[in-house]
Amino acid sequence: MSYQLLILLLAVVIGLYLFRIYRKAAKVDQKLIPEEETTEQVLAKQVPFYQKLSAPEQQVFEERVQLFLHKIKITPINNAAVTMQDRVLIAAAGIIPLFRFKNWMYNNLNEVLVYPDRFNKDYELEGNERDVVGMVGDGAMHRTMILSLPYLRAGFANDTDSNTAIHEFVHLLDKSDGATDGIPEAILQDDNVKPWISLMHEYIKEIRQHDITDINPYGATNEAEFFAVVSEYFFQQPERLQEHHPELYTLLNAAFNRTADTE
Ligand SMILES: [Zn+2]
Repeated sequence: MSYQLLILLLAVVIGLYLFRIYRKAAKVDQKLIPEEETTEQVLAKQVPFYQKLSAPEQQVFEERVQLFLHKIKITPINNAAVTMQDRVLIAAAGIIPLFRFKNWMYNNLNEVLVYPDRFNKDYELEGNERDVVGMVGDGAMHRTMILSLPYLRAGFANDTDSNTAIHEFVHLLDKSDGATDGIPEAILQDDNVKPWISLMHEYIKEIRQHDITDINPYGATNEAEFFAVVSEYFFQQPERLQEHHPELYTLLNAAFNRTADTE
């Protein structure tokens, strides 16, 4: 037998051996993957907002989730392990803030990029100051949202007043009138604009002075962050918000739960 032939034979044997290992690993992996859930099952299990809806409303919610997934591209970045469940959660976070507006879809969004971890302000996954968990893009990233996968999941996993994905979609809603300024002209009734602005400024001041402690202090960064943070609270724990901050609750409820149609 020639030297080259021996090498070739050896390579084939090693190749077959590795292939067996690979097949074994693949089999184990398959067992670990849970059976595919339906959209309805994911919503029923993980989305409290959906759980509280009536049966006909749940039907509408599911349809809108499907429409969202049909219209908006969801792209995993750097091998983020985005599952079908994650896609449903992203769509749910998008539908929740505008559920009462029958014909509304985000016209200022084409794509959601899902990062495997936190990132920095230049959308990088490496280096220092990777403190961003979600972002609505500007400039070249216009019409793009970025979410960090672990934070997307955490927002739906715990009974907390925070939800990163809802926060970012509220920014988009705020942005739809041309300015991300904490004043959502598209949903706020004209009569409520002034009361909203003055209440918002009062709250920002009180949060900065530590007079209010149950609202995420990040909300005192500026008006846009205030609106996004208290909206998270409103959708995650409405009863608690109503109890602790009735005036704030009333204005948010008037904005988000308005029954009239908008385009
Ligand atoms: Zn924000």
